[in-house]
Parts: sequence; structure tokens; C-alpha cells
Amino acid sequence: MLQIRNLKKRYEDLQVINGIDVDIESNKTTVIIGPSGSGKTTLLRSLNLLTIPDSGDISLNDTTLRFGEKRPLQKKQMIEFRKKTGMVFQSFNLFSHRTVIENIIEGPVTVLKKKKAEAIQEGMVLLEKVGLAEKANQYPSQLSGGQQQRVAIARALAMKPEVLLFDEPTSALDPELEIEVLEIIKTLVKEHYTIVIVTHKMGFAKEIADHVIFLENGNILEQGSFSSLYQSGNERINKFLTSLQ
Ligand code: ATP
Repeated sequence: MLQIRNLKKRYEDLQVINGIDVDIESNKTTVIIGPSGSGKTTLLRSLNLLTIPDSGDISLNDTTLRFGEKRPLQKKQMIEFRKKTGMVFQSFNLFSHRTVIENIIEGPVTVLKKKKAEAIQEGMVLLEKVGLAEKANQYPSQLSGGQQQRVAIARALAMKPEVLLFDEPTSALDPELEIEVLEIIKTLVKEHYTIVIVTHKMGFAKEIADHVIFLENGNILEQGSFSSLYQSGNERINKFLTSLQ
């Protein structure tokens, strides 16, 4: 279970996250939706400490991080927490000068201190899983966007994270390439990974979501199943849900 309590983040005059409380269940898929600028990416990045919240708590299973000026996080605490959360970005963020398999083993070897041979063996299994074993020795520039994103997913899985975070994972892809990435994510959903995903793709979101969080102006306007969101009678939400397919 990932518990977020009274989480806040401000950029100058803009309160981007405004005291969010939410429980994210293990082995389920939580989808974060909401209008542009509502704070979805900021919330997700906070869960990986790419963005450091101003205040509030984040607990993941047996670890709690408390944010605030009087309690700066220790570097070690941050590294330990980051290991538990795997992030997949919009723009893949692969190391361009490293091959596919080198990208995948980087974290396991440098952070988890795995032996290289073992990391390669496990990495090849993951590449098999995302259908790219034959690309192991190629460079990211030799792959399509969809293939690069599948490598990025394998790289996140290689760290065996407790939670997988996806930030609009197909928004940089042409429609014909996004299908292959959505299929991989659907496989992970069926395998009961703990997933938190920000997406504007409502059809896909409806297919995979166990729980939906609707953000607006840094607040949770509504949360629950998709059907409960429709039934909430909130005009703002209904309009949003029907505007994106
Ligand atoms: P979108 O759907 O367009 O990606 P979002 O809901 O993910 O939007 P965020 O990216 O979390 O929204 O941004 C929320 C607000 O915070 C926006 O107004 C954005 O401009 C602002 N913001 C985000 N990051 C920063 C930053 N590093 N510095 C200043 N403002 C920022």
C-alpha cells in the first residue's frame, strides 16, 4: 500500500499539489486523470522523488518519508525509496550511448550491485517479455519510439520495483506505435503489478483501472471506479470523461 498524506507542492505563487490524501492499493492499477495543469505529473514525480514535495508524508509498505523544511530527507533514504518505485517517462529517457541491454542492466548493476552476468540474464528475460530480445545489442536510435518505450518498461522492471509509475507513456508515440506499448502495460496489469499511471487515453484507462483519481487544481475532485465517477453527477468530470476517448 502506498499512502499519501496531506501532500503539498508549490511553485512560486502556484499551489500545484494542495494537500492530497490518497491510498494506492498494492497489486492494483490506479489511473490519475484530470485537466492539463491539474498536477498529475507533479504528483506522480513526487512518488519517485523526482519532485520533492514541500510537506506531507508518503508511505510505501514499511517505509515513510516525511517532507518539510525542518526535516530534510537523507540522501540514503531517497535512494532506498527510489529503488522501490520504477518510473516510465513520456520521452523514454534511455541512455543513447548505451545498447538496449546496457540500458537495462545499468540500475541492477550500479544500484542493486548485481553481478553483470546475472543482470544480463535477467535483462534478457525482460527483453523477451517486451518482445525485443533480438534488439539487445542495438542502440536506442536504431529502434522505433514504441520499441524504445518497451525497453524503458523492461528497464523499470529490472529494478523489481514495488510500484510502477507511468507518465503518459504513449503521448510521444504515433497511434500505430502506441498499441504495442499499451499491450505491454495491459500484460503488467493482468500480472497484478502495482501500477500508477497518468494518461489522457480514456478508453485505455477504462480498460485497466481498478481505481481512478480525478485531479483538478491540485486537489482530488473525485476518486473511485470509473462507473462511480460517471455516477458522481459532477458535470465537470462527466464533461472531461466524454471529451477524451
Ligand atoms: P498535463 O496534463 O498538461 O501534463 P499535469 O496535470 O500533469 O498537466 P503538471 O505537469 O503536474 O500538470 O503541472 C501542474 C502545474 O505546475 C502547471 O501549471 C505547470 O506549469 C506547473 N509546473 C510543473 N512543474 C513546474 C516547475 N518545475 N516549475 C514551475 N512550475 C511547474
